[in-house]
Amino acid sequence: MKNRTRKNKLLIIGVSLLVILVIVCASFFLFKSNILKYKKEITIEVGDNVPTIADYLYKDDQIDQEIVWEQLPSLDGKIFEVGEYHGKFVYNDEEIVITLVVKDTTPPVITSPDDIEMLAYEQDPNFLENVTVTDNSMEDITASVYGEYDTEKVGEYILYYLAKDSSGNEARKELKLVVKDNPNVKVSTSSKNYTIKNYYGITYIENNVIVNKTYSLPNNYVPTNLTTINGYIRVVDYVKEAFDNLKAASAGLGLNIYASSGYRSYADQNYIYNNYVKIDGQEIADTYSARAGYSEHQTGLAIDLNTIDSSFENTAESNWLQEHCYEFGFIIRYPKGKENITGYMYEPWHIRYVGKELAEKLYNNGSWLTIEEYYGIESKY
Ligand SMILES: [Zn+2]
Repeated sequence: MKNRTRKNKLLIIGVSLLVILVIVCASFFLFKSNILKYKKEITIEVGDNVPTIADYLYKDDQIDQEIVWEQLPSLDGKIFEVGEYHGKFVYNDEEIVITLVVKDTTPPVITSPDDIEMLAYEQDPNFLENVTVTDNSMEDITASVYGEYDTEKVGEYILYYLAKDSSGNEARKELKLVVKDNPNVKVSTSSKNYTIKNYYGITYIENNVIVNKTYSLPNNYVPTNLTTINGYIRVVDYVKEAFDNLKAASAGLGLNIYASSGYRSYADQNYIYNNYVKIDGQEIADTYSARAGYSEHQTGLAIDLNTIDSSFENTAESNWLQEHCYEFGFIIRYPKGKENITGYMYEPWHIRYVGKELAEKLYNNGSWLTIEEYYGIESKY
């Protein structure tokens, strides 16, 4: 009895172990066949196609369904927005969550000319003309130009176009700027080392137009942006603004300063000068009237005030102008005692706009300097 019982016990244990083993093995194989090998995360580039389930699997498992994406900004099956997106699909009743990372590591592509030519002293060329920038992000990207160049120096300069997308990818493309000699520009140096630039017949020093008996204007020169004072006297618009301020300030002190003459064309000046020559002869006329082309009035920057004659001297208005016109950017162009330098008699009524900075230097604490002295140039026919 004892023996039998022991045998039965052993049998039961043996069978149980076998059953357990079978169950463990079976469930192991069952479980194993249920494992789906997939990528939890895929990284793609902006502009790429939206991935499919197959892109997430390692083997050619056919899963007959589509990924359900959560807020995926796609357009025509492609994605143009950098970001992290999530989607899911079901496999054997299990919901599988996958991640899509969209990056932008591709720089824009610049299409541009290889070189640009320009004449010295002309304005910068429009560097962005015929330049396009494309990018996988489909963003609107504008190229910029950087590099050093000097439009006043003949030579070749290497510049770069630069384009950057919103992810910080940069593209750089070389551009050669060729500055060629400009036959219409002549440059010389004054006795005080200022650069005298003759640009298409017009003389400039430090961007100020120079007109005197040495430096004339072309007969077809007409300043741009002429406007009128009192409806008929013409000056350049910013000169009118400065004059209005001067007039208002002096009027506040009870003074009556008014414009009597402003811009005069070459033809007008020709008429006026020839009239004076008839009256006084050329030698005398040249001391108070400019020949056509040599008059500062053709610049639109000069104004004759009040009576335009010697009766203006020592009036309260004239005395105030001597001390204050520079504060508004004007100078007494033909000061007393400088007749041999300017080539003109003292004209207390003739003011010329040069801007506040130069005007203050020429005011010279009350003892007026001429443009000729300051820049080191002559005024002689
Ligand atoms: Zn004048």
